[in-house]
Amino acid sequence: MADCLFCKIVAGQIPSKKVFEDERLLAFEDINPQAPIHILIVPKKHLVDLFDGSKDPALMGEIIARSAAIAKEKGLTDFRLVTNTGREGGQAVFHLHFHLLGGRQMRWPPG
Ligand code: 5GP
Ligand code: ZN
Repeated sequence: MADCLFCKIVAGQIPSKKVFEDERLLAFEDINPQAPIHILIVPKKHLVDLFDGSKDPALMGEIIARSAAIAKEKGLTDFRLVTNTGREGGQAVFHLHFHLLGGRQMRWPPG
């Protein structure tokens, strides 16, 4: 999708530190990490948010399973996986992404 930041990252028009890539998914380091490990896992196809993504449950399953695999690869046994949905949910980039956060004590409730 034109003018979508993460579509541009997927297309390689904006550089990123890639952690994992296959035909359907890309994982890359967050530019403004909120934890020692902060990785974004995105579908390559443009989906706006989890409402949009839930139309493709198999793809959502791939993202969650891949996130766990990446956490394991990074040596994490404790981590958080979160997807912010809508502005009030904290979403700033409207291309579905899951945050994998780890390497420090997570707080609850989140801010
Ligand atoms: P949201 O608030 O939409 O859930 O998360 C968007 C995330 O994208 C933020 O954590 C932010 O730091 C990250 N981000 C924004 N612009 C870029 C960028 O150009 N490159 C990378 N790697 N991450 C970005
Ligand atoms: Zn996009």
